[in-house]
Amino acid sequence: MNDKRQYGFTTTILHSDRQKNIEHGSLHKPIHTSVAFGYKDARELAAVFQGRQPGYRYGRQGNPTVSALEDKVNKMENGYGTICFSTGMAAIGAVAQALLRDGDHVVSSAFLFGNTNSLWQTVAAQGVSVSMVDATDVANVEAALTPATRIVFVETIANPRTQVADLARIGALCRERGILYIVDNTMTSPYLFQPKSVGAGLVVNALTKSIAGHGIALGGSLTDTGTYDWARYPHIAENYRKFPPVQWGMAQIRAKALRDFGGSLGPEAAHHIAVGAETMALRLERECGNALALARMLEADERVAAVHYPGLASHPQHALAGELFRAYGSLLSFELKDDIDCFDFLNRLQLAIPASNLGDTRTLVIPVAHTIFYEMGAERRASMGIAESLIRVSVGIEDTDDLVDDFRQALALQ
Ligand SMILES: *Cc1c(COP(=O)(O)O)cnc(C)c1O
Repeated sequence: MNDKRQYGFTTTILHSDRQKNIEHGSLHKPIHTSVAFGYKDARELAAVFQGRQPGYRYGRQGNPTVSALEDKVNKMENGYGTICFSTGMAAIGAVAQALLRDGDHVVSSAFLFGNTNSLWQTVAAQGVSVSMVDATDVANVEAALTPATRIVFVETIANPRTQVADLARIGALCRERGILYIVDNTMTSPYLFQPKSVGAGLVVNALTKSIAGHGIALGGSLTDTGTYDWARYPHIAENYRKFPPVQWGMAQIRAKALRDFGGSLGPEAAHHIAVGAETMALRLERECGNALALARMLEADERVAAVHYPGLASHPQHALAGELFRAYGSLLSFELKDDIDCFDFLNRLQLAIPASNLGDTRTLVIPVAHTIFYEMGAERRASMGIAESLIRVSVGIEDTDDLVDDFRQALALQ
C-alpha cells in the first residue's frame, strides 16, 4: 500500500500496522512484553534518553505495541499526536496532573460521566475551581469564564441523558479566548465525530468503550489535534519549551502525567483494543440502527414516560446532532411510568444484561440513580436531569428484532 490514496476509516485502521516495518511480516502488531529496551551501544541508550534519537526507554513511558495503537487512534482522530493510558479516567486524570495548578479555573459541562464529575470534585479540593454549566448553550460557558480559566471540558453526547453540547460554538469561543478546549468523544467515537472539526485542542477517548467494543480490555487516550497554540498555555515547563510549540502539550503530558503518575496501558490490553478497533465502524452502524429502532418503539409505548435519544425528533438537540454526527450513537436512556418498578422491568429482560459498561457488543442496561450515579446523591442527580427511574441502555449488535422484542415483552409482562 502506498500513502498517495486517502483510504476510508476502516481500511486505514485495518492496514495501519502493515504500513510500518513489522516483525516477521506479522499482520498484527506483535505484543511486546519487555519492560526494558537495549541498544547496541551505551551512547545510543543515552541518545534515546535525551530525546536525540527515537526509541523506547522503559515500559511505563512507551512500548511498541502501545505505540501502534496510539498511531491508530491518532489516525482515527486526524490528530497531531496521541498518548494511551490504562483507562479512560487515567486519560482525563492526566489533564489535571499535567496541565492544572492551584488557582486555575475549569469550565465543565454539568452533564458528565459520573467519575469525571467526581474527578472535578477532587481537583476542586486541591485548589482548582470548577464551574459546572449547561453546555448545550454556549452562553452559559461564556458567562462562566474568568481570567483564570485554562480549560473548557465537554462531552459530545452526555452519558446518560444524551444532551448534546453546543460543540462548534464553544470551540469558536475557546479559540477566540485562547482557552484549551477538551472534548470527551467517548459517546460518539471517532467514527461518528471528530472533535477536531469543532476546534477541540485535546480529545479524550475511553478506548474501553466503542473503540475496543468487546468489553475485555480497559484503556484511554488523549489526542492532541494540533489546533491549539500551546504558546498561549501558561504552565508549560521550560524543559518542554525546547521543542516547537505544537509539541509542548504532548511532551508535558507524556512526562508529567504518564511517566510521573504511571497510568500506563499494558501491551496485552493495547493488542485487544487494536483488534476490536478493526470492526468499530461495522459495530457502530449496527448499534446506531438498533438504538434508533429501540428508541422509537419505547417512545411509542404508553408505559414509558420519557425516552432520551438524539435520533428522536423529540430530542432538544436532534437537529444539531444530525448536523454534527454521522449517526446518533449507541446510547439511549428512558424513564418508566411511576407504577412500573424499574428493577422488576430489568429482571424481565431476557437478552439485555444489567451491567455497567458502554459500547459493548452485548446490550447492557443499568438503573442509573441506584448504581453509577448513586454516590452523588439525589440533589445533584436532579440537577443533572437524572430521574430516579432512569434506565440507561448501551445498545449492542444483536439482531434488531430480537432486541426490540425483548424490551417489548418486558414492558408487556408487568
Ligand atoms: C467510560 C467513560 C469514561 C472512562 O473510561 P474508563 O475506561 O472506564 O476509565 C470517560 N468518559 C466517558 C464519557 C465514559 O463513558
